[in-house]
Amino acid sequence: MNIVYKQSIKAKQLRISIKSDLSIVVTYPSRVNIAIAEKFVNEKRAWIENSLNKMKIRVEKRGISTLPKSSKKGLVENKEEALKLVNKKLLFWNNYYNLTWKNVSIKNTKTRWGSCSKKGNFNFNYRIIFLPEILADYLIVHELCHLKEMNHSSKFWELVEQTIPDYKKLRRELKNI
Ligand SMILES: [Zn+2]
Repeated sequence: MNIVYKQSIKAKQLRISIKSDLSIVVTYPSRVNIAIAEKFVNEKRAWIENSLNKMKIRVEKRGISTLPKSSKKGLVENKEEALKLVNKKLLFWNNYYNLTWKNVSIKNTKTRWGSCSKKGNFNFNYRIIFLPEILADYLIVHELCHLKEMNHSSKFWELVEQTIPDYKKLRRELKNI
């Protein structure tokens, strides 16, 4: 379980929240120490696991048919969450590839899910947060591999295949959205 503890001056009481990326954030007031916050979490473990499972089902159901249309409003509302998700996933997959990039931008792109410029800047559509996890991972790995191979050559796909063996199927799925 990925639990993040945050002490907050504003918090009046201990609070556990489960985010859409399935991380768990525990906010606790300044008068409470972390040992108490941890004890609280342990007591609520069954509840957390139950909620986490429900959330997982919801995330899985948030499949292709319910994907919202790209809009300016949607971008404003989801940009921050999308950036967080993209950065997290880039770092995760880059443990394997070990490449360097410059900036990551979240945009309201019309036709593309993501792109990588020659200078090493990434653009992603904010709706990546609504994709099934595996498609979001494929998308991240795809753009990450463009840092090394600026094309769709067999060399490029070999690189993608190293971490996403079923990339062909996923590529097709993403194209169909
Ligand atoms: Zn590409």
